[in-house]
Formats: sequence, structure tokens, C-alpha cells
Amino acid sequence: MGTSDSWVVVGLDNGGTSNNATVLDSAGHFLVDRLAETPSRVTEGPDIAVGALVQALEHVLELTGLPRSAVRAVGLDTPGPASAVGVISSRGSTNFSQPEWRGFDVRTALEERLQLPVLHHNDGNAAALYAHHQHYGDLATERSSISAIVGTGLGGGVIESGRIISGAAGMAGELGHVNIPMHGLIEVGQPMPQCNCGFAGDAESIASLTAIELNLLPYWLTQFPDHELHQVPSPAKAARLVRDLGERGDPLALKIFEQQAMAIGRLFTIAANFTDPHAYFLGGGVVETSAHFREWFLGRVRSYTELREEQARVAEFTLVSDRDMAGARGSAIAALASVQRP
Ligand SMILES: [Zn+2]
Repeated sequence: MGTSDSWVVVGLDNGGTSNNATVLDSAGHFLVDRLAETPSRVTEGPDIAVGALVQALEHVLELTGLPRSAVRAVGLDTPGPASAVGVISSRGSTNFSQPEWRGFDVRTALEERLQLPVLHHNDGNAAALYAHHQHYGDLATERSSISAIVGTGLGGGVIESGRIISGAAGMAGELGHVNIPMHGLIEVGQPMPQCNCGFAGDAESIASLTAIELNLLPYWLTQFPDHELHQVPSPAKAARLVRDLGERGDPLALKIFEQQAMAIGRLFTIAANFTDPHAYFLGGGVVETSAHFREWFLGRVRSYTELREEQARVAEFTLVSDRDMAGARGSAIAALASVQRP
């Protein structure tokens, strides 16, 4: 640091309540090893929120002692859906509910404010890119992967030769909304799971916290009439308790996790026939459990992923952590690549 030819890129991860930022030097080393969080202020509209992104950048530069002039490019990720060029979907989304956000070009707005090139991805794709580079290191550009990140929704992304597959409209890698076969996955008499996107029977309609609350728990409670979760009045709260119950071996919770593992396995089977990746990464809330439970869950996912013999010999199944920093770090990696390989 400090020499006149040393330069960096900044990664900015924009979330519903906070922005997280990181700095990556031109040699590929992160200069910030912890969360650098500032308020995102997205509920106050685009103008204030773009200002908050500028503050996030200034804050993280202060932590590293670097001047703004050292920054060559900025990587930005926002919760999907947003187009390839960073325009918030015209349908709006949970974090961007104010009318001013509809069709707002957040990438260009930030670029104009900073007078620096800004590269935009959705948060799932950025996290997938970070998982890929963290796992493969120097081999990243020679490998491919798919990441499924189970949270409120089902995020993730598809990486080929170390780069995000973002698609013509920027909407590639929307793994949660891939329809998967439901035969043998849902029980006889279990209603077809519905997703917030309007699809029925896609991956997110099973493998997400929202799915537990809206689809899985309401059904499985009817099969366990004496279950303790009947006493929890809030469905959202009850859904959040399922993970702990699963760790303790509760039969209802294990039914839910079994269905989620099968859904992710079937999604990975589609990926195996589509891009045939080297690695299948699994992240999100399920990773933040005991080692025993998360290894069990990964094993179930793997058992439901149908690979050909040749694929099974080379494929890796791995849990990915560092979820809090994954978006900012993945965005920074994408920005560095855009400078090095425009
Ligand atoms: Zn969906």
C-alpha cells in the first residue's frame, strides 16, 4: 500500500437495512477482514440510498487508510430482481417497495455520483462468485460451480470459468425459480407448494424459510396433531424454530429438511445436465447449525443429486460459509476481473 501505482477495487453489498463494504487490492487480497457495515437507508428512496452507498465506500476506505483516488472500479450487488445493467425490476421487490425505485437505474446513479466504473450483480450471484473463488483460489478461472443459498428465499448462481453467468437480461442463475419435479417429493394429499414469484413447484417453494412458513409447516402440522409448534401463534416465528428442532432430531422438522434436501438435489440434477459443474456449493441458514446436522443435510442433498458415473468421480459437494461478507467480496472479485479482463 502507498505506492503510486497500487490500486484497489471496492465491493458494496446493498441490503434491506445495511450496506456491507470491502476493499480488494490488485493482487487479489482483501484488505478488510471483518464486516464493515453502514445503514443502507433503502426505505428512504433512491436518492438517499445512493448517498448511503457512497458513505459505505468512504467508510471502508477510511478503515484501510486509502484515498478515493486509489479506487479503480466498484462492484455493487443488490437483492434481486434487477436487470443486467442494474435497473431495479419494474415489478419492484421487497427491499425496494417505494414507487421511486421502480425502474430505477441504481448502477448508473452510483457511477455518476462516484465518477467511477460500477459493475452490478444480484446478491445471489455475487455470493456464488465469492464461494467459487474462495474454494478454488488460483484454479478459479479453470473451474465451474453452482451455488444454492437457502435463506428467506433460495438464492445462488452459476459460475463458469470463474465468471458469473448473468444472461442477456441479467436474470440467469435464478435457481429458486427453476421448476423441479414434485413427483415423489411431496406427499399424497400435500398441496402443491406456491412461490412468491407466481410459480408453483419451483425450488424456492420448498427450499427456503418462506416455504417452511407458507407451504411445508402448514401441511406437516396436520400430520403431527400434538406437535409443540401448534402452540406458537405466529407462523413466521414457528418457521424459524424448525431449524433448531431439526438439530434436535424432531421428526416433523426432519420431514421438512428431507423435502428441502430432495428439492435442492433435484435442482442440482438439472444443473448436472445443464452446465455439469465441478462443484455444488450449499450455503445459507442451514450452514449455521451444528457440524453434525449440516453434514447430514449436505449428505441428503448429495444423495438426491443424480450424477452420471463420470460426473460423480469429479464433482465436489461443499458447504460454504462467510455469508455476511460473501456479497461484498463477490462484488469486489467481479470488479477486479472487469479491470483485469475488460
Ligand atoms: Zn419462484
